[in-house]
Amino acid sequence: MGTKDTLSKWLRASTLGLARRLTLVLSALIIVFVAVVIAINMQTQRVLLAERMAYSADHLIALAQEVSMPHLLENNPAGLEVFFEQVGNQFDVEVIYLVSPRRWYLAGGGDIEANFLSYIADPLIERAFATGHRQQVFESEVLSIAAPLTVGGTVLGILRLDYNQKRLVDKMNAVLVNNLLAGFAFLLVGLLFSRWLASRLSSPLIQLTQAARSAADGNLDTEIAIKSKDEFAQLGAAFNAMMQNLKTSMYEIHRVAYEDKVTGAPNRSWLNNQLEHLTLHHAHSETSFAVMFLDLDNFKAINDTHGHHVGDLLLRSFSRRLARCMREKGLILLDVASDERHLADFDKNEAVLARLGGDEFTLIVPSKKADALATHIVSEMARSFKVDGCHITNTTSIGIALFPAHATSREHLLKCADVAMYQAKRGGRNTHRYYDHNTHTQMKERSALERDLEQAVEQDNFQMYLQPQFEVQTGKLDGAEALIRWEHPTKGPVEPNVFLPVAASIGLLPKIGQLMLAKAIEAAATINRRRDEPLIIAVNVSIEELNDDGFADMVKHWLDLHDAHPRTLEIEITENTAMEESAVVEHQVAQLRAIGVRFAIDDFGMGYSNLGRLKALAFETLKIDRSLVTGIGEDPASESLLYTILDMAKAIGADVVAEGIETAEQLLFLRNAGCGHYQGYFGGRPVPADTFARWVLSQGDGPASAPGMRSAS
Ligand code: C2E
Ligand code: CA
Ligand code: CA
Repeated sequence: MGTKDTLSKWLRASTLGLARRLTLVLSALIIVFVAVVIAINMQTQRVLLAERMAYSADHLIALAQEVSMPHLLENNPAGLEVFFEQVGNQFDVEVIYLVSPRRWYLAGGGDIEANFLSYIADPLIERAFATGHRQQVFESEVLSIAAPLTVGGTVLGILRLDYNQKRLVDKMNAVLVNNLLAGFAFLLVGLLFSRWLASRLSSPLIQLTQAARSAADGNLDTEIAIKSKDEFAQLGAAFNAMMQNLKTSMYEIHRVAYEDKVTGAPNRSWLNNQLEHLTLHHAHSETSFAVMFLDLDNFKAINDTHGHHVGDLLLRSFSRRLARCMREKGLILLDVASDERHLADFDKNEAVLARLGGDEFTLIVPSKKADALATHIVSEMARSFKVDGCHITNTTSIGIALFPAHATSREHLLKCADVAMYQAKRGGRNTHRYYDHNTHTQMKERSALERDLEQAVEQDNFQMYLQPQFEVQTGKLDGAEALIRWEHPTKGPVEPNVFLPVAASIGLLPKIGQLMLAKAIEAAATINRRRDEPLIIAVNVSIEELNDDGFADMVKHWLDLHDAHPRTLEIEITENTAMEESAVVEHQVAQLRAIGVRFAIDDFGMGYSNLGRLKALAFETLKIDRSLVTGIGEDPASESLLYTILDMAKAIGADVVAEGIETAEQLLFLRNAGCGHYQGYFGGRPVPADTFARWVLSQGDGPASAPGMRSAS
């Protein structure tokens, strides 16, 4: 930044200075030129002056001698008068006259004084007569000459001349003033000319400078048009070529930085720029737009089965189809080439399509278009893609977050769209969902629960409670059901019906099941070691656990470890699990039944049982669901169903445990109906395993009364 500023300031200063300096230099040159011309002129004049003076004097004397001589010989002074008058009229001749050997004035011109007309006494003339030679004196700028005119050694007269140099100098000065005036006029014209020339010469430079400054400010479209045919024009052309190259390179750099290599769509950085700009510039406007988060529903599986090459091709086709869908909905897509421009005009239906990475794509579209577009995309993407010769079907889930309704910052918008996308996935995939705050809260709570559960499993923070089961007729304790309990570190006890489905969804059930089985088998061993009549401990086992090949071995391992009799363990499987035919499950069940482990069908009456299968399974126990028991004394239909179930159980030779007995009336009904066993708050609530064990061991084998509950007898 600093360097750029200094550079442009320097360029500006030096350019203006250049024009000024050029003017100065040209002016100086002209001044020197004029001065030199004047000086030379004056010098020449001075030399000429001296020469002229000497020459003029000599010339005049020679001329006068020549003209005077015949008149003197003929003694005709009047003839001389015309000539001398002419000479005397010359501006530099002060006076000229001729004197006879007797010193009489003969003829003259110029400033002739009256006394000249008589005898003339002049020292210079006297000297000339005396010597017979020319005499001259220079005094007060007057050159005085006396020259004898002789014929054959005889002096015929003396020519007397006063030559005034001052007059010549005055004349010359007048010429000098004219020279100076002309010089100044020339100088003025010269200055104006040099100013014009300087600006003409520097204008391409200024143009170049401005262009360079504009380019330095980042304007790559800068161009110079210099019309001259000189080096400046070449420089201008070179500059334009350089800018063109720069533009091409900049675009290439831009493309590499902002284009996704697989699909050619804009990438995450570009999307982030756009979103950042949008959220900043529309913070206080009415604009509303939608951020749509797209995710292919089965991309990972496709990548795994067909390889990454096909995966990439699919992404490319997907991206292309996506762009088509957007255009079909009247949207205009911005691409990375629109570098300077940010998405702003939603009224013109401008939109953005970017690939975030993996199989995730993000769109920014006007809010009003979002719904129809999402529906269109989901239905279009459900059609298969032809990739590398194979037909691949891959549906899409879309999450939509609205600005500013759902979020106003870039990060938050993307997060909301992402959450909405997960909501769409949970909603069965191949669909779209708008962001929903409540669902988001639930999701957050759920993922917190998931994390806590993982930790609980790692640290075995679960407890086992035991709920007693009794013989209906005698009220005798004959078993207990192991029920899991989890004390959340901050939320307190969490219901099994709440946390178990969550554990199931993240695959934790088998681990939890192992922990419970170990505890239950240990409890069965501990309790039964001190009893004559065995107490059966029932454990709830999920389909996930049974589906594991090692399940039976694991159970056997715990039985061996605690030296527990297999017959004291009953495994409860829900009705629906039991009805499902699975080779693995059946194999596990068969192995355990072979060593004497008992099996019960839990929650019977809730699902749909197949009588044939029930008979084939031949499980030891049927546990009638609490929902049927609550109908006793109130709902004749439930009562008759209970009778039917009891009859059927008798027919297939299974024991029946009625669950959820809370009242004496319900127990009485069971007794009259001939039900074998019961379990419920009326007999006893689930209590911690050690409490249960202590209580059991304090009782005999007779009719029992669970802690805090009335006797069942
Ligand atoms: P479930 O197997 O039907 O267990 C009986 C449920 O009924 C227990 O609920 C028990 O506390 C409750 N209950 C017993 N008597 C009464 C009564 O008189 N009135 C009422 N209202 N309820 C009664 P809990 O302990 O909340 O367990 C709920 C379910 O969680 C169980 O239903 C079972 O399906 C599952 N579960 C519990 N522990 C385990 C476990 O260790 N492993 C697995 N896989 N599932 C378990
Ligand atoms: Ca159960
Ligand atoms: Ca049950």
